[in-house]
Amino acid sequence: MIYKNIICPVCGATCDDIQVEFGDGKIEARNACKMGNAKFQEIFSSHRLKQPLVKVDGKLTPAAWDEALEKTADILVSAKRPLLFMGSETSCEAHEVGLKIGEYLGALVDSNSTVCHGPTAMGIQEAGKVDVQPKARRKIGRSHYLLGTNPLESMPRQMSRYGVFPGVTGPNVDVLTE
Ligand code: SF4
Repeated sequence: MIYKNIICPVCGATCDDIQVEFGDGKIEARNACKMGNAKFQEIFSSHRLKQPLVKVDGKLTPAAWDEALEKTADILVSAKRPLLFMGSETSCEAHEVGLKIGEYLGALVDSNSTVCHGPTAMGIQEAGKVDVQPKARRKIGRSHYLLGTNPLESMPRQMSRYGVFPGVTGPNVDVLTE
């Protein structure tokens, strides 16, 4: 089965043209770069936890989902000062659920943004930012200047999707890393 127009959750390019095909215990992620493809391959990774584990006598033991959810709820409602730390590369829907749980518990809710792009978002909220979506940037920009970044490493499809390769009418890209 092939799923089309899947959004890659890895980097800020948010490529939305990924085609994911499942079959025989393997997955193919067409259009994704190496980083994006690695993320999709984790669906069949041997280190992925495929069922919940509950501690019994100090040892992690496979459990049914209902049992694990019950146990998790018990732990959360009995916590004196709960802190929910929500990971990056997680869907907005999952974050929304986490925020609702945090509100219900009166918990502190934190996420990877504290050590990553959080200060950027706070600066944008306070001072504003002029920007356009990458696709629009490709259409209207004559030249792109990327400051303090190395998109070849951190956003591999920048060149092929938004930069110099999309077509002869595409913009030029200059990378200024200093
Ligand atoms: S550039 Fe690669 S890692 Fe980034 S969103 Fe696109 S496919 Fe994913």
